[in-house]
Amino acid sequence: MLKVENYFMNDQIRPDQINSQGHLQIGGVDSLTLAEQYGTPLVVYDVAQIREQIHRFQAVFEANHVQSEVSYASKAFAAIAIYQVVNQEHGHIDVVSGGELMTAIKAGFPMDRVTFHGNNKSEAELRLALDHQVGMIVIDNFYEIELLSRLLDELDLQTPVMLRITPGISAHTNEYIQTGQVDSKFGFDLGSGQADQALQAVLSNPRFQMKGIHAHIGSQIFEVAGFEGVANKLVEVAKHWQSEFNYQTEILNVGGGFGIRYVENDHPLAPEEFVDAIVKAVKKAAKVAKIPEPGIWIEPGRSIVGPAGYNLYTVGSRKDIPGYNPFLSVDGGMGDNIRPALYEAEYETVLAKDPAAENVETVRIAGKYCESGDILSRSQALPKTEPGDVLAMLDTGAYGFAMASNYNRNPRPAVVFVENGQSQLVIQRETWEDMVRLDLPYELN
Ligand SMILES: *Cc1c(COP(=O)(O)O)cnc(C)c1O
Repeated sequence: MLKVENYFMNDQIRPDQINSQGHLQIGGVDSLTLAEQYGTPLVVYDVAQIREQIHRFQAVFEANHVQSEVSYASKAFAAIAIYQVVNQEHGHIDVVSGGELMTAIKAGFPMDRVTFHGNNKSEAELRLALDHQVGMIVIDNFYEIELLSRLLDELDLQTPVMLRITPGISAHTNEYIQTGQVDSKFGFDLGSGQADQALQAVLSNPRFQMKGIHAHIGSQIFEVAGFEGVANKLVEVAKHWQSEFNYQTEILNVGGGFGIRYVENDHPLAPEEFVDAIVKAVKKAAKVAKIPEPGIWIEPGRSIVGPAGYNLYTVGSRKDIPGYNPFLSVDGGMGDNIRPALYEAEYETVLAKDPAAENVETVRIAGKYCESGDILSRSQALPKTEPGDVLAMLDTGAYGFAMASNYNRNPRPAVVFVENGQSQLVIQRETWEDMVRLDLPYELN
């Protein structure tokens, strides 16, 4: 009966994820089979879980009859396959670069459901966006207003836009990932009048179709207070713009940042609770301010793909040091998941062949990269392991592969989607040959 208790000790794995052989299964596929078939390190996504998360965000808006968009912030994980899935679920996407936009184009994603973000979009990126008539450009700064005005004149086009403002709200979260405080690099400041100036500039050019106001206050947020704060702030701005400039806001975009559970101490709210709080706050504030109820857009990234992702690694060498937790080295590391090294992000890891086995020691899971900071986990209780065992790191789906690098000229891992008991490669594993594909010999000597 010990096994059953253990299921609940790590509630990031559901009991139905242990198959008849006792192995971890993902989307109905044995994780050891995946490791064998595709090799490790391997990034695996449970596609049904991605679809479900999107639905959960959408459902509350629909139940409240709010004009809304759930826009997947695709920087969390961008690939042709994920854009296809989001499209199938009638979602919207955020892109932040020409590369992400090109990926969405190649995926056949409907361009009218794309929002283009960024604090320094290049002319080439904006041209690509305008050529493909993306549905929304979120203007971040005055330089961008000028640049866009020039391109729109040149191309003789109009474009829907939103203005990103800095709401002066700092979400209660890790300071490395705060973006809503007043001295953020993103968006127009309210207090100094920059946002008003930006609105006037946009309204004075008929090539801009001014749709709404955007703010994003941070990431991995666990409380509704920050979102209620941003909803109130955006309504306040909408009210001010209506009375001062006779501009009526159609859409309030409150950004993303909905927290997920990485480790036991994380206690995120359900998607429904976040959306419910946002809808209530906007409705109430709009009523008080006597402005028409605007549409509400949200931009979840991490919460869509994070919990659906697994990184599979194979155990190799081990170093025992008397008085310290041993190092257990795996065949991946900061090249496929830099978050632990970058901001001490934590994860839970299980032994794929027996996630319910009794833990016998606490180890440090070390990567294979030549960097002392390349530790995937500083403290992980595990059963006994041997070289060749497969470890499954949980909830790795957001900002893991997306931030992958070729440090030490290690190839980036493959990515596999699993659903209904079937698996399919969606990003091929890089090879050693790929590591030199773009190199050219120096010939000027
Ligand atoms: C990164 C980002 C998001 C998504 O944040 P998550 O924490 O992944 O939900 C949403 N909107 C904007 C503007 C962002 O930059």
